[in-house]
Amino acid sequence: MAKHLVLVGGGHAHMVTLANLRKFIERGHKVTVLGPSPYHYYSGMGPGMLSGLYTPEEIRFATRHVVERQGGDFTLGRAARVDADDRAIRLESGETLTYDVASFNTGSYVPHAIVKDLTEDIFAVKPIERLMEAQKRILELVSLKKTTVGIIGGGPAAAEVAGNLWRLTRDHGRYRPRIQIFSGEKFMARFPGRVRKKAIHSLTSRQIEILEQGFVKKVSSREIVMQSGRRYDVDLIILALGIKPSPIFEESGLPTGPDGGLLVNRYLQSPHYPEIFGGGDCIYFQDKPLDKVGVYAVRENPTLYGNLMGSLEGKDLQPFDPGGDYLLIFNMGDGTGILYRKWLTLDGRLAFIIKDYIDRRFMGKFQAIK
Ligand SMILES: Cc1cc2nc3c(=O)[nH]c(=O)nc-3n(C[C@H](O)[C@H](O)[C@H](O)COP(=O)(O)OP(=O)(O)OC[C@H]3O[C@@H](n4cnc5c(N)ncnc54)[C@H](O)[C@@H]3O)c2cc1C
Repeated sequence: MAKHLVLVGGGHAHMVTLANLRKFIERGHKVTVLGPSPYHYYSGMGPGMLSGLYTPEEIRFATRHVVERQGGDFTLGRAARVDADDRAIRLESGETLTYDVASFNTGSYVPHAIVKDLTEDIFAVKPIERLMEAQKRILELVSLKKTTVGIIGGGPAAAEVAGNLWRLTRDHGRYRPRIQIFSGEKFMARFPGRVRKKAIHSLTSRQIEILEQGFVKKVSSREIVMQSGRRYDVDLIILALGIKPSPIFEESGLPTGPDGGLLVNRYLQSPHYPEIFGGGDCIYFQDKPLDKVGVYAVRENPTLYGNLMGSLEGKDLQPFDPGGDYLLIFNMGDGTGILYRKWLTLDGRLAFIIKDYIDRRFMGKFQAIK
């Protein structure tokens, strides 16, 4: 019997399902995809877009086009809450979508509790679209005056954003900005010493300052205040503080993990509501908490696709295997990268060439299904 599948968010874990949407429709099912934009931006290439290395068009998936081309419905909007007992998704617009099976890939957000007043010159690294606005504003500022940019965060997103901001303002603008990273106590703390050293060297050799002087307490208009009470004047702030799963599950009273992510079992399925599935940064994988990296979202694709079809058609579900170690490559913004996988570290041009190749291949595969 025909059923209604609703995909909430066209993120990285839904790519294979989106590419195969026609198969659901050929079997008589109705598919609706809900998203706040006709496009989904690939975070792995976001810092490269900030520097101008990639255009926004090169790093986005044409979600609406892909859905409609295959006979699905695309609803522009944002899920606000889920009434799982009624199998209904309430949208911010007030509309409701009902489903037989729903899958969530709504990602994560940068918490901004430290921000006192939201001014126009404070930008978070997620959603990736915000980096386009940051780019425009930085270019305006550096054409007018000597500017200080404060990047708050001590992980790879902060490193990549700093390096790529350097590239943007090397290639454009009248004045070179001062770039300061407020990294908490230790920059790139969750990586081995050899990776930290390479990242620190790459940035500081370009006069990017890394301040490992403790945590930021609050951020207000043009000022960063440390927990120690010390204050720094800045012109623009980028928040790269780490991320939290999409808040809709907690707000809906759905079972979640300790981080607030949708609790899912080994079938990427809510243990309490078997018709709800999820993937990517917004889930909490019950068997083993997963790092919030795109790599897991990508690995979840075939399982999610198979299990959504299986669930609609009453077939057996397959467990997700998160696999072993994963490869990370950071785009440092000067044409070099830092590649890291367990024991292996490689930095320099080759590391960036490998990243660029992997990212472009991924985009080419899913960007716009003909
Ligand atoms: C600057 C930066 C660089 C990164 N680089 C890498 C990297 O090189 N490699 C790596 O593995 N990881 C990287 N990451 C981590 C990576 O971003 C995440 O792990 C990845 O984006 C997770 O994918 P996702 O599809 O779950 O979420 P997202 O990419 O956040 O996608 C979620 C989608 O859901 C939509 N959505 C959100 N809320 C709603 C709602 N309420 N209703 C409907 N739709 C909604 C959004 O519009 C978006 O399209 C990086 C992160 C950042 C910030």
